[in-house]
Amino acid sequence: MPIKQLQEEIIKLKQEQDVVILAHYYQPIEIQEIADFIGGSLKLSRTAKENVNTEYIIFAGVDFMAETASIINPEKHVLIPNYEACCPMAAFLTPEMVKEFKKEHPGLPVVVYVNSTAAVKAESDICCTSANAVKIVKNISQEFNVEAVLFGPDANLADYAEQISNIKTIKMPDKGHCYVHSQITADDIKTVKEKYSKAELLVHPECIRDVRELADYVGSTTHMYNYVKERSPEINEFIIGTEVGLLERMAQDFPKKNFYLAKDKLICYQMKKHNLELIEYLLKNLDDKAFEVKVPPEIAKRAINPIEKMLDFS
Ligand code: SF4
Repeated sequence: MPIKQLQEEIIKLKQEQDVVILAHYYQPIEIQEIADFIGGSLKLSRTAKENVNTEYIIFAGVDFMAETASIINPEKHVLIPNYEACCPMAAFLTPEMVKEFKKEHPGLPVVVYVNSTAAVKAESDICCTSANAVKIVKNISQEFNVEAVLFGPDANLADYAEQISNIKTIKMPDKGHCYVHSQITADDIKTVKEKYSKAELLVHPECIRDVRELADYVGSTTHMYNYVKERSPEINEFIIGTEVGLLERMAQDFPKKNFYLAKDKLICYQMKKHNLELIEYLLKNLDDKAFEVKVPPEIAKRAINPIEKMLDFS
């Protein structure tokens, strides 16, 4: 079926039922186009908590996002179009590792990036996203009256939070990373800047420090989007150092501006595992339990506190 026709069919099915579709900025553009809410992790978590009144939520994002939505909405049915959409960063940190780090560093708070399993979140004091990591590190260190925090699993985001907050972040582990963002090198940036010398460079905090230091702006997907939106009309060229989906979103929303990817093929293949056909299937089979995301109650009960604390702090 042609994409437009399938999108129309999806919109019709959605309107006839008690369901919303949330989509991350890294989703294929044709999915973003049929979503009710589009955003980064923090915005979508907040939306799932505050703006969703439907019985069903279809979450077009990776596993941890759908799990988070399910934890904060235990009474709703959260469905993921393709349960193979798993963020590989989460595998860098297990609950056993967190327990070991806590034993080695008694008294330090544990900050866990939302890109982690629910079982890891359950071991933490507070969660964070790339949009609020600096603020969370500052606030939790003040609450515990300490000059250092345990932070995982992304070592680059931990490094960024440490750089800006001046609070030491002990990385859990020191090699945790996102394969999409960490592949961008300073040489890539020099090459793309030579090509587009008038463009401003915006990068995600999951990039390595050498790359972040060459940027005009470092921020989460939502922050980058807002930066472009609020930038004066004379500035109309941007090099984007994050997944291509955000560039596609901004190219649609700001047609007078030009966007270039910091490097070819900045694609999160896990985010791209969803497609319109799978969403159409779900809309016709909302009660298919195979696609429902459920976190074991004993883990959900412990993971909800650090998630809610994050939402309260940010
Ligand atoms: S972009 Fe990186 S951190 Fe985000 S879902 Fe993909 S692999 Fe995970």
